[in-house]
Amino acid sequence: MLFQPINKNYHEFHIDRDKDLCINCQVCVRQCSYEAHYWDKARNKVMHDSSKCIGCHRCEALCPTAALHIRKKPSDFRGNASWRPVFIENIYKQADTGGVLLAGMGSPVDIPIYWDRMLLDASQVTNPSIDPLREPMELDTYLGAKPSRIEVTQGTDGKPKLKTRTTPQLKLKYPILFSAMSFGSINFNLHRAMARAATELGTYYNTGEGGLHKSLYKYGANTIVQVASGRFGVHKDYLQAGAGIEIKVGQGAKPGIGGHLPGEKINDKVSETRMVPIGSDAISPAPHHDIYSIEDLLQLIFALKEASEYKAPVSVKIAAVHNVAAIASGVVRAGADIVAIDGMRGGTGAAPAMTRDNVGIPIELALASVDQRLRDEGIRNQASIIAGGGIRCSADVIKAIALGADAVYMGTGTLIAVGCTLCGRCYTGKCPWGIATNDPKLSRRQNPDIAAKKMVNLVRAWGHEIEEMLGGMGLNSIESLRGNRDKLRAVGLSDTEMDILGVKHAGR
Ligand code: SF4
Ligand code: SF4
Repeated sequence: MLFQPINKNYHEFHIDRDKDLCINCQVCVRQCSYEAHYWDKARNKVMHDSSKCIGCHRCEALCPTAALHIRKKPSDFRGNASWRPVFIENIYKQADTGGVLLAGMGSPVDIPIYWDRMLLDASQVTNPSIDPLREPMELDTYLGAKPSRIEVTQGTDGKPKLKTRTTPQLKLKYPILFSAMSFGSINFNLHRAMARAATELGTYYNTGEGGLHKSLYKYGANTIVQVASGRFGVHKDYLQAGAGIEIKVGQGAKPGIGGHLPGEKINDKVSETRMVPIGSDAISPAPHHDIYSIEDLLQLIFALKEASEYKAPVSVKIAAVHNVAAIASGVVRAGADIVAIDGMRGGTGAAPAMTRDNVGIPIELALASVDQRLRDEGIRNQASIIAGGGIRCSADVIKAIALGADAVYMGTGTLIAVGCTLCGRCYTGKCPWGIATNDPKLSRRQNPDIAAKKMVNLVRAWGHEIEEMLGGMGLNSIESLRGNRDKLRAVGLSDTEMDILGVKHAGR
């Protein structure tokens, strides 16, 4: 019988400390929220316990003498193609605890990433390319239902005037929005940073399912307020505070299941915003208990439109699953102005690892099939599409738009911009980078001004790159690329994959 957990010594990471460089300053001791470093009084020097390290790299990044190196320490089990170490270690953990394996962030499993299997076109002799440094490029994006035809009349000034009444639109300066991340799952400093960044950029951030703190109402013109199954923080003022409203039906990282914010993360501010008691778990159920059909969804969509006095477009967020195209069609017919599709590589604060890694489909396939289905049914103009869950760079954005998206949600990228190293321990509430935590000491590691600046820089940088690539294709507006799959070519994909994506193979 073993008296310690079997996996005690099979830990994932190893801390290397260069004894010649370490000056015993104890920065690592203060920075590690997992107490992997400690001051050894007897030896009068800093020591460490590698078994406690979760691989966040905070100590390595902040060590003033670069004395630390965090490396993977996979145990060398006997090679077995079926029983890979991850399965063995998971079984050890579950045999010790009897619990569900939890995980944070997006799935690390090796499912094909189709963005990497699609290449963009560029102009050469005919249809010459455009230099974005010398000619204006248009990235402006409007999200919302578009009329099937428009009527124009002449205004009193003699200029053409739109006669057709359009439904409310979200106007974006970049085709990129900050994804839904609830206050509670991330802390107030970062919510404030996202609100400021979205305002400065002329785009939107999404409250996620945790409500909106009163002090952030002033950023409402750049806020999408979310309504999820738990209805946390949802009330009339909240619904009227945002420029758009999103009903969250599903999430790419955990389709088919609800959410769970542990009581430890519910401090006074989160409690006030979510309208739940301090310290109590906030559990959102898997389904909305008032939605069991498309007709029920229609009722909620119109109830929310009415609550906003028909000023805010309503988005419905669905997870990318097998029949996502049929679901999206129903969502659009139910009156949604925007369909947000979240792919299986999307991030999350907490999800059962098995669900995160085995449920859902990649965003690329989901996006292409939804766009095609809406076109085939002649209802594509009735709603915009936002694609999220696996957008890593500006090339992914531009490929998503060529596949049919109007804009993308960026979640994980936003957090990486402020230091996240994808350690996947968001559910513990001890995020060493001060992101997925409400611990006052850890939250202070994020300065809202600096975080907002980094987010703004990232989106601006991607914007420049998008303009470069558009210009290279001979296009001067993002609108000309929407759904233009002829600008994409596949490499190494099967006929079925290319058929679903609606792209030809490179060389054709
Ligand atoms: S958990 Fe993070 S801060 Fe702590 S030892 Fe590991 S890498 Fe360093
Ligand atoms: S948010 Fe924090 S806890 Fe979550 S993956 Fe990033 S660094 Fe780790």
